[in-house]
Amino acid sequence: MSKLVTGDGRTHIKSKLMRESLQDRDVIGATDSDRDLQIFPDAALVSIGGQSIFDRGRDAILPLAEELGRIHTSGKKRMVIGVGGGTRVRHTASVALDLGLPTGGVAQLVGAMEELNAIMLNTLLAKHGSTTMPRDHFWDLPLYFRAGILPIVISVPPYHFWEPPSREGALPEHGSDFGLFQLADVLSLGQLIYVKDEDGLYDKDPKKHDDAKLIPKITLDALLANPPAESILDRALFAQWKQAKNIKRVQIINGLKPGQLTAALDGEDVGTVITKE
Ligand code: ADP
Ligand code: MG
Repeated sequence: MSKLVTGDGRTHIKSKLMRESLQDRDVIGATDSDRDLQIFPDAALVSIGGQSIFDRGRDAILPLAEELGRIHTSGKKRMVIGVGGGTRVRHTASVALDLGLPTGGVAQLVGAMEELNAIMLNTLLAKHGSTTMPRDHFWDLPLYFRAGILPIVISVPPYHFWEPPSREGALPEHGSDFGLFQLADVLSLGQLIYVKDEDGLYDKDPKKHDDAKLIPKITLDALLANPPAESILDRALFAQWKQAKNIKRVQIINGLKPGQLTAALDGEDVGTVITKE
């Protein structure tokens, strides 16, 4: 039973944080815990790249959609599918920056491009029982999982006008890879798999350098200590992961190679596996 505490001219409800300023370093430190509540540890988040997969058209999307449909129909794995916006995001952001829109204005546009790819993927997967999920309807997830429905969400975090100014340039720092990372972490989804058009993370962009080397396995600390100059995932993801509590493993795989997604969902070390420890 909560007790009311008075005596300093105010009324408090007795608790650890009563009377404290929430900006006090000691107070903030005392709120720490080793891990958060695990909400959906049995589910996997599968991110489908916008530019790397969708913009390649049917040759890339159809086999992957078929594989997703097969995995979903098998009932072996609960999945949430995230989609990026790809080339249309780049084009729209260029026009917006040209017009002088602030970073928050640009951030607001990205999700709209992603909606298109969500609808497109849903068109292909609907026969397997998919649906597009409004971006913040996370409490509908148990309903979808129980009913065997495959939810498709957009990826970019909904900071919109509240996107913090970037350290460099005017593009939003919190992109789609980061948005899905946040989603997976807060819901403590057991797996987080990024499907792109390369075999994983290389020491440099393999599209620009013939001698780029694949990194099959690496820890987050090793990556932060020596980050590749070009990155396949949003840099904000790696920086925030250091503080995040739930995600232990991030995998990047090649969606142009049939079977890789199935193997990754089965727990195999295909592509690049980045681990927290
Ligand atoms: P999407 O828009 O589909 O999310 P991106 O095009 O942003 O994907 O990212 C995937 C691309 O990142 C790859 O096709 C690759 O060319 C590029 N890339 C840049 N740096 C790296 C790296 N270090 N390792 C692998 N790929 C990289
Ligand atoms: Mg990207």
